[in-house]
Amino acid sequence: MKFQEQVPLRDYTTFHVPAHARYFSVFSDSEMLEQLPALTLPLLILGGGSNILFTRDFNGYVLKNEIRGITVLHEDDDAVYVKAGAGEPWHPFVSFCVDKGWGGLENLSLIPGNVGAAPMQNIGAYGVELQDVFWDLEAFHLQDRKLVTFTRNDCAFGYRDSIFKGQYRNQFVILNVTFRLTKKPIFHTRYGALEQELEQMGVTELTLKSISQAVCNIRMSKLPDPDRMGSAGSFFKNPVIPSAHYEELKIHYPDIPGFQQGADAVKVYAGWLIEQCGWKGYRSGDAGCYPNQALVLVNYGSASGQEILNLSESIRESVKLRFSIDLEREVNVY
Ligand code: FAD
Ligand code: NAP
Repeated sequence: MKFQEQVPLRDYTTFHVPAHARYFSVFSDSEMLEQLPALTLPLLILGGGSNILFTRDFNGYVLKNEIRGITVLHEDDDAVYVKAGAGEPWHPFVSFCVDKGWGGLENLSLIPGNVGAAPMQNIGAYGVELQDVFWDLEAFHLQDRKLVTFTRNDCAFGYRDSIFKGQYRNQFVILNVTFRLTKKPIFHTRYGALEQELEQMGVTELTLKSISQAVCNIRMSKLPDPDRMGSAGSFFKNPVIPSAHYEELKIHYPDIPGFQQGADAVKVYAGWLIEQCGWKGYRSGDAGCYPNQALVLVNYGSASGQEILNLSESIRESVKLRFSIDLEREVNVY
């Protein structure tokens, strides 16, 4: 594997902040990883760069994953088992499956990034998470230099979380993911604005395509286009707090939105908390809080990663002060 030195990373992430990789290379199969020299510096696997914020130069190896390929492994009366290379761009893969009539990914339309990063934070949107369609994945263990298969249980998926973000952080390179997609789709439309959008589109009979289109319409109207404005989507996770805390907040803020999670916890919408603290539409230099969606921090052009991080810390502090809630970052900061 050949490395380039001091490679600019600005166009490799959707935040488009300046940073350099000390060493940079691409790989398109696991054999190339087996040839890696013994690593004395940190290593970062790069997918589409849509969930990464660089706050400084990366003093180590950045390896861009370009493993491609989509294969049907197995098919029965109910389901199709589809394997996709980790470097396949996510949305085109979703569209491919929707066009084939394979159900399960339609609510996850238009999420930026690549297939390989999807299990990292168990990507989710509009009531569906990756774990709902996940079958298994193959990963390369960097230390032991061997291939390991992970089933759903092995991945310890949680809310925007998995074992690869926690215990196994930086230990594995995900090479491919296999999905179990259904031939008898179950439609998930009771979420946020989705039902409303389908109605506005005049959809009377649900199809995978109509749901995918509705999701794309909402996202295009609400979220910044990564090609035009720097962002990494939601900067923070929606916090899950004890029900007692939520009830206490409701006394002072009767409108606070909450979604029951099991018996004793409530998921609170982080965007609402941030908006209440007056940040929505805030801009300092080129770092800002997106006017249409307070949970999204944006780079209007020439913000540095550190400026975005500083803004996020100020937001976090004010939410903590006002609501006694600790916001947890969703974006991977380097
Ligand atoms: P990257 O940003 O390249 O990497 C993310 C992390 O995963 C890094 O730590 C990286 O080292 C690691 N990684 C990447 N590939 C591999 C691999 N093959 N093996 C091991 N580690 C790897 N997310 C959601 O969950 N739901 C949404 O609805 C959503 N909407 C978004 C909207 C916008 C406008 C944007 C900009 C982002 C959004 N995101 C959303 C966040 C992001 O798109 C997803 O998390 C996506 O899966 C990241 O993919 P990526 O290939 O860009 O990962
Ligand atoms: P929205 O529809 O305005 O809803 C606001 C929040 O309320 C969402 O974050 C969602 O939580 C929660 N919510 C709405 N309806 C719910 C229900 N019926 N049950 C439980 N929770 C509900 O949200 P949005 O900001 O436009 O985003 C729409 C979807 O896309 C969400 O699922 C969101 O997570 C996803 N998205 C994610 C990112 C990212 O970078 N991670 C960026 C943009 C959009 P959840 O977030 O937990 O689903």
